Amino acid sequence: AAKEKGKNQYALCSSAMKQQVLEKTLLTNSLYRALERNELVLYYQPQVSVQTKEIVGLEALVRWNNPELGMISPAAFIPLAEQTGLILPIGQWVLETACRQMKEWQALGVQGIRMAVNLSMVQFQDRSLLSIVERTLSETGLEPECLELEVTESAAADGDDYIVEVLHALKELGVSLSIDDFGSGYSSLSRLKTLPVDRIKIDMQFVRGISNGNDDEAIAKTIIQLAKNLKLHVIAEGVETGEQFAFFDKNRCDEIQGYFFYKPMPASEIESILLNMNPLPAS
Ligand code: C2E
Ligand code: MG
Ligand code: MG
Ligand code: MG
Repeated sequence: AAKEKGKNQYALCSSAMKQQVLEKTLLTNSLYRALERNELVLYYQPQVSVQTKEIVGLEALVRWNNPELGMISPAAFIPLAEQTGLILPIGQWVLETACRQMKEWQALGVQGIRMAVNLSMVQFQDRSLLSIVERTLSETGLEPECLELEVTESAAADGDDYIVEVLHALKELGVSLSIDDFGSGYSSLSRLKTLPVDRIKIDMQFVRGISNGNDDEAIAKTIIQLAKNLKLHVIAEGVETGEQFAFFDKNRCDEIQGYFFYKPMPASEIESILLNMNPLPAS
């Protein structure tokens, strides 16, 4: 009976596994087709100067506009894209689209705004990242100063010297680098000091808890102070309330990105905001 039972369990497990593999395969195929069929779209979320309240940057955030399921968030498909390697062509598409878009906005008179693009750890491990970035800049004609690449803290904190070399090489191209979700990984401070980064982005989890003097406040203050000491720019992500904004204003955080000012928006909506800020001179 035990053997019988074991057999059944095995059968059960096996069919659940088959189901999983099947679902993953189907999803991978449709994600692959999504890229071919132009179903991926970029939304852009403004980054705002705390002092002037002006838009100083935009972060490109990918979404999948699935004909049946509607808009799918990156949290739902980026991990799969990373597991299957599809993140490489997707990441390349994101980079090209964001750079081309920024160049178009510049042609309409938008100035002094950088475009931030997220890079996955998988892209960093791919040996062609540097040449892809280089080629994208030259093909789109975007000045490297206008491009910022976001690296997650876990990628930046990785012990791999190769990653540090790539960061230096990217920096030499003239692009700027930021560490995303700072405080969520476990990067050592001595390592942070050696990385050629320009900006750290305070992880949203610490912004969530900001209210009269709790631990999250202490952590956010410490990160801002750390950035100042290392002469890095600092931006707080996920700022949703006036209270949170006031905290970052008072504690001299440089910039904020969050629903308090703007949500991520499709290109057309961003474009009208940017053009209202920077109207073309009347001719
Ligand atoms: P991230 O790079 O940390 O991006 C910030 C996320 O926080 C975005 O979520 C944004 O919509 C959200 N956010 C910003 N302000 C607020 C706020 O005030 N409240 C709340 N609740 N959320 C806010 P999104 O667009 O869903 O992206 C999630 C993550 O997916 C990103 O986190 C990034 O890790 C990844 N991702 C997005 N686009 C790309 C991409 O093109 N390539 C790669 N490799 N990863 C991407
Ligand atoms: Mg990011
Ligand atoms: Mg982040
Ligand atoms: Mg994140």
